[in-house]
Amino acid sequence: MVTTEYGRRIAARFDTFDQDGNGYIDREDFNSAAKALLAEFSTAARSDKGQALYAGAEAFWQGMAGIADRDGDQRITRDEFVGGAVKRLRDNPDRFAEIARPFLHAALAVADTDGDGAVTVEDTVRVLHILGVREDIAETVAVALDINADGKVGEAEIVPAFARYFTVPE
Ligand code: CA
Ligand code: CA
Repeated sequence: MVTTEYGRRIAARFDTFDQDGNGYIDREDFNSAAKALLAEFSTAARSDKGQALYAGAEAFWQGMAGIADRDGDQRITRDEFVGGAVKRLRDNPDRFAEIARPFLHAALAVADTDGDGAVTVEDTVRVLHILGVREDIAETVAVALDINADGKVGEAEIVPAFARYFTVPE
């Protein structure tokens, strides 16, 4: 049983990655996240943005598997996540930003529907929510990211914030 606040937060991050809730993280969870984002923003999988998102999802999965899939069965169990991924990512948040960046870059391109290089706070909440971040947290995070309060959020802010969220500081 998870009793500490830290343990509870780690469990929540695992659940965020385990999009289909079958008890382990695998490639399918990353593909599901990509698919859900494309559906949310009415973007075709075969478009350039769709292809970039799937490529980013694959790179994200490969990076996570490289860090956490200790027995190489192409699944990250809760134990592997808690014992491997969380500790190693916390020790090296830059590494997490690096493996997540192509996916986040592509996700923001999908959400940047007017192509001005930034995403509205409202659409940032939609992205975070689709990625499994709880809606009330997503809202707080998105508003905090809009540092100059112009209603828009750029990639430079999102990648480190996402890394901070997933690397779960103690
Ligand atoms: Ca899963
Ligand atoms: Ca495994």
